[in-house]
Parts: sequence; structure tokens; C-alpha cells
Amino acid sequence: MQRMGSTEYVSRATNEDLERILAYAGRPGMISLAGGLPDPSVFPREELSEIAGMVIGEMGQDALQYSAAMGVPKLRERISRYMEEELGIGGQGPDSVLVTTGSQESLFSISMSLLREGDAVFTENPTYFVAYTVFREFGARVRPSPMEEDGIDTHSLEAAVRSEEPGRRKFIYVMPVAQNPTGASMGEEKKRHILEIASQYDLMVIEDDPYGLINYSGARPRPLKSMDGEGRVIYLSTFSKVLAPGLRIGWAAGDPGLLSSVSRVKQLIDLNTNTLSQYICSEALERRLIQRNIGRVVEAYRRKRDWMDQALRSEFGDRVSYVLPDSGMFIFARFQGVDTRKMVMRAVESGVLYLPGDSTFVSDPDYSTARLNFSYPGREEISEGIRRLGRVFRPSSP
Ligand code: PMP
Repeated sequence: MQRMGSTEYVSRATNEDLERILAYAGRPGMISLAGGLPDPSVFPREELSEIAGMVIGEMGQDALQYSAAMGVPKLRERISRYMEEELGIGGQGPDSVLVTTGSQESLFSISMSLLREGDAVFTENPTYFVAYTVFREFGARVRPSPMEEDGIDTHSLEAAVRSEEPGRRKFIYVMPVAQNPTGASMGEEKKRHILEIASQYDLMVIEDDPYGLINYSGARPRPLKSMDGEGRVIYLSTFSKVLAPGLRIGWAAGDPGLLSSVSRVKQLIDLNTNTLSQYICSEALERRLIQRNIGRVVEAYRRKRDWMDQALRSEFGDRVSYVLPDSGMFIFARFQGVDTRKMVMRAVESGVLYLPGDSTFVSDPDYSTARLNFSYPGREEISEGIRRLGRVFRPSSP
């Protein structure tokens, strides 16, 4: 915490890894395997540029104006249709959709609306490190349950929920498809169990699903929301990974009453999500641009995942272990005998940036882990980046 006069001005939840990624990723010669950036070569730039021109030229009167806090009606309607057709999530009409500035803002606005000092939020361990940083920012106690190969240990989750006073239990936060950082997808049994726990203990579930369409196996798992008979799940998604993150358009889908109350908090933050971007996304949905482009994205990332897999095997052999993810953008690797936290600055000096895995653990960190991104770097950068890691993580001589 820092202060000016008597005023404290740094939040309690600043995350030094996030700051490091932002500070060093742009250094000349730096190979960043740390962030979660899409590959800009898969942005459908020409068509987006044409859409942007058309939207400003023909709809500028509204597209350049302020708009409703819940989102532009046409976009909410098209997102509702997109969820039904592409994600298998039915029954979410436009009233059940809140447009946000990326999913990150959904996480922030929902937390700000719901969380009070000392409330319990139940998460996977490891989890998306920026999400638990937000929960803590609003005073929540984050209660983690370990990840298994097919998702969160739901028995541990149930025990954690049971151990909290009913008034203190706020929500369960999970990524059932392509979990960040592990890349794991949740089995059907676990998904059903989570819904049962939510029902039995009268809890909400926040399902965060930015990577659902980025699947390499051809057998995309269904979202938890598609199985949500009691309306307990708030589903979060985004166009960041399937279209372009610079548009900053995401959404939350679920109970209209809850979302309308979240939108009142959102209004205090930014009045409304960027109207122009909403018009662009709305037109992109109408033209099925995501559906036409996603094949190219998945192909590019599958190749990169495989290059990283080969590079790791040849550099580290059996000193590295991981489950090759069939979706998402990361390999979550364990490096035998290495403390990745201790090595992070040496890696920066050697020109490679990664996310030390301990940052993704709410408790009981595994210091031998690192989250490595393969969507952004090119082929040469992947091999060179892993070579540099090989030098940094070299076992010290006896
Ligand atoms: N949730 C998860 C799990 C993520 O990985 C990310 C981005 N890395 C976000 C939310 C936020 O994405 P955006 O705000 O760009 O939609």
C-alpha cells in the first residue's frame, strides 16, 4: 500500500505478475510466453475494417453515441442467438444478456455488485489469476479446491461450501471448458455435481468461458450453462479470443434481475460499453464472421501448440510434464527440480517471459509450474523461447 498524505492509493490486490507482463513484454527482443494474446495474423482485418467503415458511415448517428448500460439491443439479441446456435445455450433471450467491456469487466462489475468484506468465493486451484485478484479486491475470502485432470475436485468444493456460514457463501467461479491455466475441460459428472451443490446450498455459479470455441479435438464440451435447469449459472464469454480483444466486447448471460442490478454498477464505472465496438460486433455476428474465421484460428493455434509441445520435449525431455490441452491457448507445465518463481527475473534477462505458475494458485502453490502461451509467438519465437527457458531452467551442477 502506498500513500499520498493520508490517502492510500494502491489497491490491496495489485498483482505483480500482471504488472511484470505489461512492463517487460514490449522490450525489444523479448519473447513473451506470459500473456494470453491472440495471434494478430488471424484477426479478420479486412472485413472488420469494411464493417467499421460501414457502421460509422451508415449508422454513425447511433454508433457514435452513448448507449444503454445493458448494451445495444441489436447486439444483445444477436448474442442471444449466437449462444443458442454456437454454444448450445438456449433460453437466454436478449433480456438475459448484459454487454460488458470484455469478460474482465463482467468479473469486476459482478464482484462489485455482490461481494462484501469477508464473503466466501469458491474457485478452482489453480485458477485465472486476474479473477481471484478481483475477488480479493472486493474483500472476498477465496476458497480454492484442487484441479484434477478432468476439472475441479467437486467433493473438496462441496466440503468448502459446507464449511461456510450460509450468509457468507457468495458464488462458485469455474472455467468448465479450457480452464485457465491448466487447459483442462470438466467431465459431465463434475458439471452435474457442481449444479447439485449450487442447488443444495442455494448458490450462484459464475462460468467463465472465453476459449470454448478454440477446440482442437473436434469434440467441444458443452458449457455448464447449457445444463442449468434452475437458472443459477451466470455465463461469461467474450469476443476477445475469437474475433479481436481490442474491440473489448464481452457479455454476461443469466438471471435478468441480477444482471440489471449489475448494470447499475457498471453504469457507475463507464456509463456504457463502447457503442461503436458494439455495433461492429453486432454486424460481425449478423455476417457470421466469427463462424467463418474460427477454423483459421483453431488451425493456427493447433500448429503452434504442437510446435511448443515438440520444443518442450526436445529441450527438456522427461524433466517436463504436462497434459497437452485440447483447447485454449496455454500449456501448463511442471519443470522437475525448478522453482519458476525464483527464475523469473533471470528469464527476463535472458529475453523470455512466462507466468510463474504459483501466481495461479490461491493456496498450496506448485512452484515448479509455469503457464506458457502458444497463441501469440511465431514458430521461431516458440522454439527460441523454449531454448532460452532451457538455459534458464538448467539443473545446477552438483
Ligand atoms: N477470463 C479468462 C479465463 C481469461 O483468460 C481472460 C483473458 N485472458 C478473461 C476472462 C478476460 O478477457 P477479456 O476481458 O478480453 O474478455
